[in-house]
Amino acid sequence: MSSPADLSESFFLEQLTWPEVELAITRGTTTVVIPVGAIEQHGPHLPLSVDADLGTALGWRVARNLGDALVAPTIRVGCSEHHMGFAGTISLEVETLEAVCRDYCVSLARHGFTDICLIPSHGGNFSPLREMVPRLQEAVDQVDDGCWVGAYTDLLGLVGLWRLVVEEELGLGARVGGHADIAEASQMLHVNADLVRVARAEPGRVGELDESLVEQVFRKGLRAITSNGILGDPRGMDAGVGEKLLEAVARVMAESFREDAEPDPGLATRGGSDRA
Ligand SMILES: [Zn+2]
Repeated sequence: MSSPADLSESFFLEQLTWPEVELAITRGTTTVVIPVGAIEQHGPHLPLSVDADLGTALGWRVARNLGDALVAPTIRVGCSEHHMGFAGTISLEVETLEAVCRDYCVSLARHGFTDICLIPSHGGNFSPLREMVPRLQEAVDQVDDGCWVGAYTDLLGLVGLWRLVVEEELGLGARVGGHADIAEASQMLHVNADLVRVARAEPGRVGELDESLVEQVFRKGLRAITSNGILGDPRGMDAGVGEKLLEAVARVMAESFREDAEPDPGLATRGGSDRA
């Protein structure tokens, strides 16, 4: 999270002063991206902060792709009940996360932001976000009925994209399993290499993440499925590939918001991206 030479050019809302934010909105920067992360176990090689840190890294890339957009402070803790079998994980109840998201959206709408894009950087937040979007929309409608709220919620699509990029770049697509794997470790290596214990990387439960495995993960908890907390295999992680992954995911997320936010007279309401 580096700052530009001219601080008023920062993508990060929290790095700006109030006059800078006011001016940005007046000049048409009315889109805001909210990364929704997690503080949860990521195997023996990655810190608990992975999803929160990657959310911030992804957030400014999505904002840059969208143009005229800022990034709200990352919601660092998310819904991680399925990781509670591992020490250190902190989990919010779905209702708590919704309350926080609602208050973020209402605050931003009150200042004049008109497009609010929620981006989960943690698997457990996808489904809660999909469910809550209509209620978040109702809440901002009370402030400004021209304000739109959407969320990117295609979890399997995202992991599929990771697999594609890792296969193309390294020929190791089979090591993408969806959690603390080669894709996530590579991204973290790019974002903050100091926090990655490369020598502790080891395989977890290897195999493709499909709907039945996702269902098992949420029902039984991750520890019943993988003893070290990894889905996939992080060995072979590569910082350059991590950067490519972040760029690719940001492009797809930004594109989904552009499509969803386009006015469509055939739709009574505009929902979030939901292609899972
Ligand atoms: Zn993660």
